Amino acid sequence: MQKKITAVLVILAFVLFSFWWLRGFRRSNIPVASLPQQRLNVVASGYVPYVLAKQIGGQRLHLSMLVPAGTEPHSFEPTPGTIISVSEADLFVYISPRVEPWVKDILGGLADVNALEAGPSLPERDPHVWMTPYGALEMANRITKALIKADPSGKDYYKQNLKNFEQEIQALHAAFKSGLADCKSRDVVHIGHLAFGNLAQTYHLHLLSLSGTSHQSEHSVHKLAELVRYIRKHDVPAVFSEEMLSQDLASTVAAETKVRVLPLYTVEEVSKKDFDAATTYGAYMKRNLHNLMEGLQCRL
Ligand SMILES: [Zn+2]
Repeated sequence: MQKKITAVLVILAFVLFSFWWLRGFRRSNIPVASLPQQRLNVVASGYVPYVLAKQIGGQRLHLSMLVPAGTEPHSFEPTPGTIISVSEADLFVYISPRVEPWVKDILGGLADVNALEAGPSLPERDPHVWMTPYGALEMANRITKALIKADPSGKDYYKQNLKNFEQEIQALHAAFKSGLADCKSRDVVHIGHLAFGNLAQTYHLHLLSLSGTSHQSEHSVHKLAELVRYIRKHDVPAVFSEEMLSQDLASTVAAETKVRVLPLYTVEEVSKKDFDAATTYGAYMKRNLHNLMEGLQCRL
C-alpha cells in the first residue's frame, strides 16, 4: 500500500512537472521584448507613412491612418474625428504640408502633439520623394528615430527592422537599375499627376505626365492631344495609368493610339483591397518595376 501511494505521488509529481515545464517552454517562445503591454498609439496621415511605420514598428504599434483607403490623399478634408485621433496619438507621422496641405489645419489647432514630418526636404519639382527606394529609406530612418524617442524600450526591435528594410531597399534599387537598363523605349507616358519624376530621374527614364503634382491639377484636352501625338511620333509601346484617377482617360489614349495600358502605383493611394492585404512598400515598387519593364519592353 505504501509503495502504491509513493508510485502515485511520483507519477503525479512527474505530470505536474511536465505541465509546468511545457508552459514555461511555450511562454519562452514568445518574443517578450517585442510585445509591450501597451502598444504605442501611432497615427499616420496616409498610406506612405502608415506602411513605413508598420515596416519599422510592426507589432509594437497600434497603428491607424487618417485618409481612408480608396480616397485621394492630396485633397483630404479632416473631420472633428480626425482631429481627436491625432490629439490622442503618442506619435503623429505625416509626409509634409506640401503634399498634405490639410495637415496644417490639424496641427494649427492642437498644442501638444508629438508630430513627425517624415519628408521635410522634398524636391521642388516633384515632392513624391518616396517613389525612389532610397527616398523611402530616408523617410523610414526618420520614422525609426521618432519611434525610439517615443518608445525607448523597443530600440533594438526598431533598429533591426530598419536594418531589414535597408537590405530590401538595396535589393530593390539593384533590381530597378538592372531591370530598366536595356529597354526598347525610355518614354514613360503617365496619364496621371506628376508623381514619378524622382523615379524617372534616378533610372534615366523620360517622363511625360498628363498633369501637375496634385490631383487637382488641370488635365487639359490640349495636353492629352499632345501626348497622343508624342506616342504616335515616337512609337511609344505603352501608356501608364493611375489607379484612382485616370483609368478612363488612359483607356481613351490607348484606344486612340493602339498601345497597352499598365498601372503605376504611387503608394500614397491605396485601394481597399491592397490596404486589407497590408501591401508593403516593396510589393508596390515591385509591381511598378514589373509594369515598367513590360510596358517599355525591357530585357534582363
Ligand atoms: Zn501625389
